[in-house]
Amino acid sequence: MGENFAFFLPVMLASFSIAFLILYSRGMRVAGWWSTGYLCVAGGFTTPVVYSAVPTPLWSLLADILFATGFLFFSEALLQRWRPLWLRPARVAIWGLSCFLCATALAVGNLPMELAASDFGCFLLIALPLIAARGQLTSGADRTLFAAATLVAIDNLVRGSTIQLTLAQGIDYLVSDYAFLTQALACIFGMFLALAALATQVLDLLTRYERDAMIDPLSGLLNRRGFDDAVMQLGTTARSGSVVVCDIDHFKVVNDEHGHAVGDRVIVALARMLEHKTPDTTITARFGGEEFVLFLPGTDAACAAAIANDIRECFTRDIGSTLPLMRSLTASFGLSTVRRADTSIHDTIARADESLYKAKSRGRNQVCVSRAVAHPNFKSATTPAAASAR
Ligand code: GH3
Ligand code: MG
Ligand code: MG
Repeated sequence: MGENFAFFLPVMLASFSIAFLILYSRGMRVAGWWSTGYLCVAGGFTTPVVYSAVPTPLWSLLADILFATGFLFFSEALLQRWRPLWLRPARVAIWGLSCFLCATALAVGNLPMELAASDFGCFLLIALPLIAARGQLTSGADRTLFAAATLVAIDNLVRGSTIQLTLAQGIDYLVSDYAFLTQALACIFGMFLALAALATQVLDLLTRYERDAMIDPLSGLLNRRGFDDAVMQLGTTARSGSVVVCDIDHFKVVNDEHGHAVGDRVIVALARMLEHKTPDTTITARFGGEEFVLFLPGTDAACAAAIANDIRECFTRDIGSTLPLMRSLTASFGLSTVRRADTSIHDTIARADESLYKAKSRGRNQVCVSRAVAHPNFKSATTPAAASAR
């Protein structure tokens, strides 16, 4: 391998380190392990270049330590994905043993032993995550990452096992077949591993952004966009069911009397209540302020009204015991079922909103339904509540 190429390899590996660093700065913690790992390996491949300037065996030891450390970080990065913290002390021990054997081999002038200690150490460090990956390879990106790590592991194993063939006696290490193979294969497999790892990290980042765009950060419920997406994913299931719109009564007063922070806690408390008191299939969202929208697929108006009324009663009863409020707090609910003529869920929401407006204008703390329901006779422990039919 020519000197120019030997110079190219660390530059390429360091470039990957920078790419991972950029992802790390975007909050991708695992990219930090990849970045440091690639920086170490880049440093390891720099030592032959500096060796010609200042020839000392200490460069070899430094290279061995950098390679072992780089692979320790690679194993950490892979395991963070597939099985966090798995065998961490054992992996650190492998790192320590590999470095120790390399130093010993250097001290006694046994080059094959030094190279074998380094190669087998790196092999073990990257092979362990491959065992832990069993059952975790759910995406194409994960399977590609697994394949790349497997190639790197095989490369180290085969290279370490064939030192006698590739390192002829009396030949300078830098011009040996072993050094050529190390650099050439590190270039190919190192690049494959980096690209596969970058792909998984970028996809994870996209998934995070996608999720953040659909979740309301205060309540943890879906936001309007998340609600639309969740309903769309229901497909034909969304053609029947009920929409409930819920709004806290005189919420402004809570903020005025207790401050915005307590107001936030009320919103969060109601969000948890909405989650717990509705069927698992319910799509629950916070559309803004103190207004929530629920879609109950396949649930008729009577059943949905009973659920809404249960939430209404619980909210008034329990919110006072959860938070130090000066006065009792109530909420109003509007309800509508999906109709055949509805072009989208927003038609149903619009009718539920009209019912909510009616609940407000009729005195609040009640459930109003936009079409006649057969039975519920809602009663409130504190305030008269009504289910009105339009
Ligand atoms: P109504 O019974 O008619 O619904 O009266 P209301 O006071 O609840 O409604 P209004 O629309 O007048 O006021 C809503 C208040 O909600 C005003 C706003 O400051 C507050 N609000 C909106 N978003 C948030 C939030 O995220 N946190 C807190 N604490 N308050 C919020
Ligand atoms: Mg309100
Ligand atoms: Mg409101």
